[in-house]
Amino acid sequence: MRKCLYCKIKVGGDLVKCPICQSKLVGEPEEAYFPKPTDGQRRSLYYKIQLYCVWVTLIAGLSVDFLFNVKLPWYPDLHWSLLLSMWLVAFEFLIMRQFKPGTGSARKVTSMVFITLFMLVITSRFLGFFDFTVYWIVPIALIGDIIANFVLAMIDKQGNTMSYLLTNLLVGVVPYIFIYFLGKGTNIAWIICTIVSVILFIGAVIFKGRTVLNEIQRRFNV
Ligand SMILES: [Zn+2]
Repeated sequence: MRKCLYCKIKVGGDLVKCPICQSKLVGEPEEAYFPKPTDGQRRSLYYKIQLYCVWVTLIAGLSVDFLFNVKLPWYPDLHWSLLLSMWLVAFEFLIMRQFKPGTGSARKVTSMVFITLFMLVITSRFLGFFDFTVYWIVPIALIGDIIANFVLAMIDKQGNTMSYLLTNLLVGVVPYIFIYFLGKGTNIAWIICTIVSVILFIGAVIFKGRTVLNEIQRRFNV
């Protein structure tokens, strides 16, 4: 029988983490209570259908672009199917992440926003709206992400509040420093993004400070 040192409970079966606090269990495992799902059971029919559609679109795009030489009207030299493929692969990666167990909502939301923005920056580079993307779309999307993380930190009782907070500060402040040192100058959208990040971080520390402190104590055993 395994034990959780923090919740002072005994846990049967072969669980690795405490079902209440997610800390690592100690002691000898017993025979498993639940059967392990096979790969085929985990991935439903819908997952397979969308995966198939993604592959068909990808191959069709590459064929039309490279074999039939059909280009976009304003970009006669652009291999658009490569951009399309990049988006499809990213989309598939995000779908896989959503199904991955043990990933918190903050990480799901933030990784989705980051990957989408990264794709958008690359795409805009080729299609010629790079500056607009970097100075407006990216900071506005990050503001949305920061607010979403803040709300999640406030309502999510099970979640890891620390990861919400750190993600927020990271998202709001690091890009600002990066742009600042690139010497390109910031604009109003980036400034607002950083301010929102700092204000909400302070708010979270004030409202959720105790939770964060408990979390640090539990995780680092101090
Ligand atoms: Zn526990």
